[in-house]
Formats: sequence, C-alpha cells, structure tokens
Amino acid sequence: MSKKRDFIRDIIAEDLASGKHETTITRFPPEPNGYLHLGHARAICLNFGLAQENAASGARCHLRFDDTNPAKEESEYVESIKRDVAWLGFEWGEHLYFASDYFEFFYDCAVHLIKEGKAYVDEQTLEQMRTNRGSVTEPGMPSPFRERSVEENLALFADMREGKFADGTAVLRAKIDMAAPNMNMRDPVLYRVMNAPHHNTGDKWKIYPMYDFAHPLEDAKEHITHSLCTLEFEDHRPLYNWVVENCPVPAQPRQIEFSRLNFTYTVMSKRKFIELVNEGIVDGWDDPRMPTISGARRRGIPAQAIREVCEITGITKQVGVTDIALLEFETRKILNKEVNRRMVVMDPLKVVLVNYDADRSETVKVPNNPEDESAGERDVALGRELWIERADFELEPHKKYHRLKPDGAVRLRGGYIIKHVGHELNEAGEVTEVHCEYLEGTIGQNAPEGVVCKAAIHWVSAAHAQEAEVRLYDRLFTAENPDAAEDGFKSVLNPNSLEVVTGVQVEAALADMEPGERCQFERVGYFVADSEEYVAGEKLVFNRTVALRDSWGG
Ligand code: ATP
Ligand code: MG
Ligand code: MG
Repeated sequence: MSKKRDFIRDIIAEDLASGKHETTITRFPPEPNGYLHLGHARAICLNFGLAQENAASGARCHLRFDDTNPAKEESEYVESIKRDVAWLGFEWGEHLYFASDYFEFFYDCAVHLIKEGKAYVDEQTLEQMRTNRGSVTEPGMPSPFRERSVEENLALFADMREGKFADGTAVLRAKIDMAAPNMNMRDPVLYRVMNAPHHNTGDKWKIYPMYDFAHPLEDAKEHITHSLCTLEFEDHRPLYNWVVENCPVPAQPRQIEFSRLNFTYTVMSKRKFIELVNEGIVDGWDDPRMPTISGARRRGIPAQAIREVCEITGITKQVGVTDIALLEFETRKILNKEVNRRMVVMDPLKVVLVNYDADRSETVKVPNNPEDESAGERDVALGRELWIERADFELEPHKKYHRLKPDGAVRLRGGYIIKHVGHELNEAGEVTEVHCEYLEGTIGQNAPEGVVCKAAIHWVSAAHAQEAEVRLYDRLFTAENPDAAEDGFKSVLNPNSLEVVTGVQVEAALADMEPGERCQFERVGYFVADSEEYVAGEKLVFNRTVALRDSWGG
C-alpha cells in the first residue's frame, strides 16, 4: 500500500534530502495505564509506518513504555499493549524500552540544571504554587524559594531523593520565566515527591519526573529524530525544546503534533474505559463493544480494516471525528473477499421433507466463497429434517414474498428445490413445523416446468446441526458524541448493545473453527468464533462483527 503524503512525511523527506538526518527514528510511547484504543492505532500506524517506509535508510520505531508514574501503571497493561501492537501488524524488534530505566539519567539532567542555576527546589504548598502561577492575563509571582543558591538546591534535591520530604511538600522546578505568555513556561515542575513503589524500580525512588521533563529526555536518549504526538502537546513544545536545549543530551529530537483519531458513537479515553470496566457495564477491556484494540479483535474486526481507516483518514492538524461506519465499511469489504460462507439458522423452524426417507442422508457441495473460487467447496449434510429461519416461511405472504409459502417452492442453498405441502400450527396459531416435498434432480438444475422458484434460503440438517450461542453486538452508545451528553457519557449507553441468542442451529463445519476465526453467516452477517468460550471449550459462541449491511438508524 503506498502511503498518502502528509505534512509529517513532507518534513521527514526534507530532513533526509537536506542531510539533517540520515534516517528517521520514531517511537510509540504508551503509558501502561490501560489498554490501547482505536485512537492509538493512528499513532502506531504513523510511527511504525514511517519506519517501514524508510527501512532502506535504516529507519526504526521504538516501542517505549512511558512508565514514569508509579501510581497508575500495571504490567498487565504492558503485556496487552505489546500484544495489540503486534496484532496490528508492527514489529519493534530489539527496540523495546522502558522510560523507568532512565530514572538515573533524568536525575543527572536535573542536577545539571540545578548546577547551571536553571532549577530550584520549591517548598510552597501546591495551593500557593497554583495561585502564584498567575493567569493568561496576569503574570505569575516568583516563588520565595526561587533564588536559593545552587548548593542549597543540590542538598535539598538530594534530600528529596532520599525520602526526607513527604508527598506534596517539595518539588523541583525549572527556572524559566514566571511572566511567560505560555503558562507551561512559568517555572514548570520537573520532579515531585511520591513515596510510592514502582513496578520496575521498586522502592528505590521517592521522587518521580514529570511527563514534560521526562519525555523529551527519553526521546533524546534514544536518538529519536521526529517525536510525533497529538495536538494537546502543542503548547508544551517550547518546554520540550527548552529541556533538550538545556540538558546534556546526545541528540536533539523535534516534536511535531497531529490531530487525534476519534470515532462517532464512542468515547476514547482510558479514564472512561476504566469506569465502564470497573462498573461492570462491559465485560472487561476486550468486550467486543469496547473501542479498544483488543475489543475490536474479539469483535472480529481485521487489523487491516483498522490500518485502512488510519490510511484513509490520514495525518493532519485538523480536529475531526471519524464516522464509525467507515470502520464497519472497511471491515465488510475485507471480510467479503476473505472469509468462508456458512449456513446458520438464527431462529429455527423445522421443515420435514415428507418424501425423503428417515434413514437416508447425503451431502451436497456448497461453495465456500462466491467471491473467491480458490476457497473451494465444502460438503454439507442433508437429511429428512431441516432447520430454516422462521422468517423464511410466511403463511400470509405479500405479493413480492418469494421465499417459502403455502403451495410455494424455494431452493435450499446448494441443494434441492422444495415445495410446501402442509404445516402444523399450535394453539396460538404459530407455525411449529412445515411439511415439504423435495424435487428430485433439482440440485444445480433449474426448476422443472410448472414450478416457480425465485429464491434460495439457507438451512441446516437437523440431525447434523450443532447448537451455538450467538452474541449480537451493537454500538455501545446511542449518541453520536457521548462526551457531549448533558448527563455524562454513561447516560447515553445503548440498552440493546448486546443481544444473546441461544439455541442457534449451525452447520457442522462451525464446530471446527479456531478461536478468532471469522466467517459469514449467509444472509445474516459476519461473525467470529469467540476467543474466550472456544478456548474454554465449553460451548460454541460466535460474536457478530458487523451485519451484512448498515442497518443503523434506517
Ligand atoms: P488517553 O488520553 O486516550 O487515555 P493517552 O494519550 O493518555 O490516552 P498514551 O498512552 O499517553 O495515551 O498515548 C500513547 C501515544 O498515543 C501518544 O503519543 C499519544 O499522543 C497517542 N494517542 C493517544 N490517543 C490518540 C488518539 N486518539 N489519536 C492519535 N494518537 C493518540
Ligand atoms: Mg497519557
Ligand atoms: Mg491523555
């Protein structure tokens, strides 16, 4: 796939042409405080995509865990992030890094700034610092601790490291400009005291660096050439540059911002996902309704569809929301070409072929994928008793109804034409069984003289069918922009986002599917064998990926 040009690719091409850089080194730097979401896919495709496109000059992309905050991070998240990036189709090879491995380096940089008179220990309360920071219209007030001597700052910072300060009682601040129009430059905090153990460094550290200090240093340490991030960091770029210009670093990375990927009918923030998971609104991070990468995978969305959406929407500085229907459209396009068709009866009604012997059975050949001849055919068993969809038999059909009706005929997909001869009703007047005759010699042949047959329906042989549970997933929210809902995003949850259908009759081939394998249920939609229940081996469970056509709102 040839990549569309965008302003970042233009900048990189110029930097290579001018000799500023010999190659490009990018990074994807997730904080391991949650699972990756579909928005992250844009950053992943961009950073790893650039490494692939520029591989000839030795380009690479680092997977770096930005694990500098001990409070919210867990190794479960590290593992899930690796799995998701790999599933999306990208490789980091030996370039796997943890920002927490650089704690000593960050500390040395901070000491360097202190020695240069560019950082000081501030013991104002958080409240005082906030007030003294000023506002957009008013300059800030210098801290009374701002003019401490280098020696005093060095000693106090060492005390901070040794745990002699309680949380919140001291910070290290950069000494930049308390009147700067950009608030981020008003003596930003570089380090804070946090007496919390870290998943990598244990109890070693009592102080932790702030993102705005650590991130540029991580980039510089790894010789990142182009540090690509989302637009909310635009105002932080002057500080990013200040850090790399004033610290003893081996390279000068350049930060470039692009707009986030967001979708309609969903939220896209780890904090909100945590609420959905913890409150049991969804069944975990990988619930097929979740806009996480792992949710999409369990839903059956192909990684390629996610990559295509990233390609189509491109990289810009325009803030926008992508219609989730685009992902569904790309998903259908890929699955239509690639997956096998199978016959599954969601709402079974029994058909008895009255002229077919009870102890007889045969197999008929049915193509696996009409879009792909190389997918071949499969044998489907047929016997006297069949299941068809309840909706494929109509007692009082309207004029254009071409499926099974009293005295009418219909073709069994891949099999015989069958003709209605009778049916049974229960006391409520509902059809409980349909009686038909099969017409000998009609497999693969036109209807004989005098028989009108205008439709083919799917079916399964009752004696050979397996029973399955099918989960019909729909959008998790009813509002196009759940974040804008007056009563919060949880007030617009779709009460029908999951419908569990049991007693579904499926053709025998479905029992052999692997967890995560996809197929089309003919005339119904695209489905994936659920990873959880299949692995547990308890029962056959299929998740609906998408319906055959977009039925939303129409
Ligand atoms: P969130 O705010 O959604 O919880 P985050 O931005 O805190 O996510 P990080 O782990 O810090 O998540 O993100 C890793 C990288 O992915 C960052 O470079 C970030 O800019 C990028 N990223 C996060 N969300 C999006 C998005 N919606 N679109 C594009 N890139 C994103
Ligand atoms: Mg973050
Ligand atoms: Mg964020």
